[in-house]
Amino acid sequence: MISPLDYLPLFVRVAQRDCLIVGGGAVALRKARLLQRAGARLRVVAPAVHAELDVLAQVSGGTVRLRKFVAEDVHATDALVIAATPHSEVQQAVVAAARAAGVWVNAVDSAVLSDAIFPSLVDRDPLLIALSSSGRAPVLLRQWRERLEALLPTRLGSLVSFAGSMREAVAARVTDPTLRRRLWERVFSGSVAARVLDGDEIGARDLLEQELDGATAIAAGEVYIVGAGPGAPDLLTLRALQLMQRCDVVLYDQLVPDAILDLVRRDADRVSVGKRGGGESVEQARIHTLMIDLARSGKRVLRLKGGDPFVFGRGGEEVAELIAASVPFQVVPGITAAVGCAAYAGIPLTHRDAAQSVCFATGHRQINRPPIEWSQFTRPGQTLVIYMAGRRLGDIVAELLNSGRDAATPIALVLRGTLPTQKVIVGTLADIVARWSPAHETGPMITIIGEVVAYRGLPISDDASQSQETTRSWLAANATKSS
Ligand code: SAH
Repeated sequence: MISPLDYLPLFVRVAQRDCLIVGGGAVALRKARLLQRAGARLRVVAPAVHAELDVLAQVSGGTVRLRKFVAEDVHATDALVIAATPHSEVQQAVVAAARAAGVWVNAVDSAVLSDAIFPSLVDRDPLLIALSSSGRAPVLLRQWRERLEALLPTRLGSLVSFAGSMREAVAARVTDPTLRRRLWERVFSGSVAARVLDGDEIGARDLLEQELDGATAIAAGEVYIVGAGPGAPDLLTLRALQLMQRCDVVLYDQLVPDAILDLVRRDADRVSVGKRGGGESVEQARIHTLMIDLARSGKRVLRLKGGDPFVFGRGGEEVAELIAASVPFQVVPGITAAVGCAAYAGIPLTHRDAAQSVCFATGHRQINRPPIEWSQFTRPGQTLVIYMAGRRLGDIVAELLNSGRDAATPIALVLRGTLPTQKVIVGTLADIVARWSPAHETGPMITIIGEVVAYRGLPISDDASQSQETTRSWLAANATKSS
């Protein structure tokens, strides 16, 4: 059975029409701003009126009456009446007068009294997404609005305007309706749209012209080298999410969890090019070839990497190859593991009393490259974050101690940082190896060494002798504190 609707969704033209607003406060002002953008003439009636509302009414060609509402203020020719007054008797009087005159009325904060309600808006003018919970769950509505806001590219409105400006030219040159529909589908899911969304309308127009001239189908592929952050999906950047929604194929690393891959456009092909802890160059070369070939065949290729592409992510090598192959690309930063894991483990990477610098190092030994000199990290007051230490942790700690770093220096191992199964193991250089059992652990691990570890924000109920715990309770405790 089709459920009855509480309201009829509708977009109404009010340009050059009169609208009455009863009320002069902040709520009245919010409605007035929208009505004024839609071109309405505003008649405001209230004993006192907000200064900006006064200006808006004048600019719109309307009037302001500084007095109490009377039924005659409603005119039968009004397009809409808004009762934006906190006094319920006045509100009811306005509603009654509007109904008597046959004019739609919106009673602010009262869906029951209203003929018309204002939807929640995702505004990419001229694209407007209007949302309503029929007045039943405004908070839920706001949450979904925020999600849509995050998902929709900022310049989506420009794309709508662009399409609008090309509509006639396209219709004149592609007369067959089916072919024309296909063309627009290609435009909106292809490089033309991608150019507009990146702010390059001239480039977009050129591409569309080529397409109209029957030149190669819009086949300018490109590569997005995107950092996916340390693992928690809500640590993605908005730009990452938007490109994830735009790509035709994704080449992803093993570090990228399913919860993030689930956010990639459903129709996109998924190719795992993953390997743990820095693979062999042969494999990297294969990734380069794949990426370039796909882009050359016209695909938008998302190269999705854990953390940040330019921090132990080989982003630099991939960029060099793309430049050499003349494939267009862009790079989107991500939250690197050091930063993400430190935050979720409650460890400040710098602290005025404990560390004036931070160093990111790799614990992975590269074939044909000189090994890292660990002796350069022995100074107190410098935080050392080691990526990919893995099973070499024991050797690295031994080298630091041999080179003279204080055995009492605190150290934290953050396993599966920012993920629901995050675990933090804390100790000192002297005892960390004994506290850690690599055989029992899976997933990525980052090592933070330095006095800052002692400044860790611990769970409220934390027992100082406890050296192993997850940080979930810490996060929960802090979330409650700050809200
Ligand atoms: N480009 C990535 C690093 C890739 S190297 C970035 O900027 O974060 C892979 C290493 O990153 C892992 O061996 C581990 O040391 C670290 N790492 C990545 N994600 C992690 C996570 N969620 N928790 C702990 N360490 C992580």
